[in-house]
Amino acid sequence: MSDDAPSTPSFALGDDHVELQKWVHTFAEDVVRPAAAEWDEREEFPWPVVEEAARIGLYSLDFFATQSFDPTGLGLPLTMEELFWGDAGIGLAIVGSSLAAAAVAANGTPEQIGEWAPQMFGSPGDLKVAAFCSSEPDAGSDVGAMRTRATYDEAKDEWELNGTKTWATNGGMADVHVVTAVVEPELRARGQASFVVPPGTEGLSQGQKFAKHGIRASHTAEVVLDHVRVPGSCLLGGKDRLDARLAKAREGVRSGGSANASMATFERTRPAVGAQAIGIARAAYEVALDYAKTREQFGRPIIENQAIAFALADMKTGIDASRLLVWRAAWMAKQGTPFEAAEGSMSKLYAGETAVRVTGQAMQILGGNGYTREYPVERMARDARIYTIFEGTSEIQRLVIARAISGMQIR
Ligand SMILES: Cc1cc2nc3c(=O)[nH]c(=O)nc-3n(C[C@H](O)[C@H](O)[C@H](O)COP(=O)(O)OP(=O)(O)OC[C@H]3O[C@@H](n4cnc5c(N)ncnc54)[C@H](O)[C@@H]3O)c2cc1C
Repeated sequence: MSDDAPSTPSFALGDDHVELQKWVHTFAEDVVRPAAAEWDEREEFPWPVVEEAARIGLYSLDFFATQSFDPTGLGLPLTMEELFWGDAGIGLAIVGSSLAAAAVAANGTPEQIGEWAPQMFGSPGDLKVAAFCSSEPDAGSDVGAMRTRATYDEAKDEWELNGTKTWATNGGMADVHVVTAVVEPELRARGQASFVVPPGTEGLSQGQKFAKHGIRASHTAEVVLDHVRVPGSCLLGGKDRLDARLAKAREGVRSGGSANASMATFERTRPAVGAQAIGIARAAYEVALDYAKTREQFGRPIIENQAIAFALADMKTGIDASRLLVWRAAWMAKQGTPFEAAEGSMSKLYAGETAVRVTGQAMQILGGNGYTREYPVERMARDARIYTIFEGTSEIQRLVIARAISGMQIR
């Protein structure tokens, strides 16, 4: 091979990434894991653990910004996998604010990012949290069915928001809420915009807090918006940009980039969500592998049965395949490579379904113990289940992929 031939592709992580991985893993092992069962049982936001994450700089705007700007795209996936290896409910409590921050980063002006992002994290001893509120009781997968209405009061340069959001992570308890709303109903999903609702704004309240199957340390609730008035400066991207976008949509011209505000957020976050699922799957696989080597039945370790060993082989293969899809999508997103086959959706779809399958197999390998709360795989199996549902269900990911590869309107 000549000297100027392209360098060999490599999947080896650089020193900075290895260090990041070790740092997050140590926190996950020493602080998150030991607290996991307690906060799962309490079904409450784990403030002391998040405080500890803030103290070491893991729960901070600086940390999430640094990882988001990592030119390889791998900083966030590596962080997510290690943190969620520790525990998914606590992991989501720690990264939930970054979903709202990503919405501001995706749709806001530099001034808006500078104003609101720091208020979404606060500082050690004075933590703040943020919520991204898009879903509604009648608008989950069908974002175009959204009813929350934003109306503009030109005389006061204020927006008024009315409606009910549901299933919002950190909803109601957050300091800063990012809310998507309809500004022009005839345009369906293209007539929507995102707004920041500042801390303490009158008219925003928490509705029902949901009791959940898994990720129970993460707070999920309805958010009621009753004549919520916010200054014009809270419209993400600003009025001129919105007016230009609406004008194009009215003419039927496709705007460049994402079809609407919510989709822009999801596109950025899907590989990182896939990495969360990988963390859960890997944790359950490790417990199952250890158990299978030590648990004896019929006078030998159960792993000496092909049925068990092959299940573990499949689990490990699925986890590694998921990671490659996630890393590819994260890298492509960072390079600005178009997702021609919806590679972001592929990574989330495969990792989410792998996590459900692997945690189920781990439970099976642990037998009766797997079904009890004495062992963590029972919790991991409950936690994994959300990964085929939120941030776009598996069916919606398949729809996105099918449309991308066919160029046709698959329904
Ligand atoms: C714990 C948790 C946290 C969440 N956090 C947030 C958050 O922070 N912010 C936020 O905005 N939302 C959040 N969500 C909402 C989440 O994104 C939605 O639940 C999800 O998008 C699915 O919407 P849905 O529940 O209304 O299901 P539906 O859209 O009603 O879907 C029900 C079923 O029908 C299927 N289906 C629907 N349409 C089609 C179709 N065209 N083709 C094939 N199948 C279809 C779905 O795949 C699913 O299986 C959260 C949800 C949960 C449970």
